[in-house]
Amino acid sequence: MSAVKVNIVIDINNVISVYSGKQGCMCGCNGNHRYHSIHKDLAAAGRGYDLDDSDISDLAVKRMVNKFNKAGVVTVDQKIDGTYSDYCYIDNNDTDRTNVIYFTNGSIANQVK
Ligand SMILES: [Zn+2]
Repeated sequence: MSAVKVNIVIDINNVISVYSGKQGCMCGCNGNHRYHSIHKDLAAAGRGYDLDDSDISDLAVKRMVNKFNKAGVVTVDQKIDGTYSDYCYIDNNDTDRTNVIYFTNGSIANQVK
């Protein structure tokens, strides 16, 4: 996989969840995943267990989308077959933090040309 910097406009309707934490492991031990209520069934299926209400925050999702859209440039991973990850991220090496937005299938690929 290779990291590619892209300039995309994120549509909040395509966002399943957002993550904020320290750089490194993203299982949740270093930060928090917050889920978008409109995709909670999809998120639960992806995780394999139900979400707690406290895991769902449309406000956190909205804030993260605004942050990414303001930043403009985000990073996506391109796979060997040329397709793109269903997430994008911003690493802040000054603060040692990483933010990630996870999308419904294919919504990044539609925007990255
Ligand atoms: Zn972990």
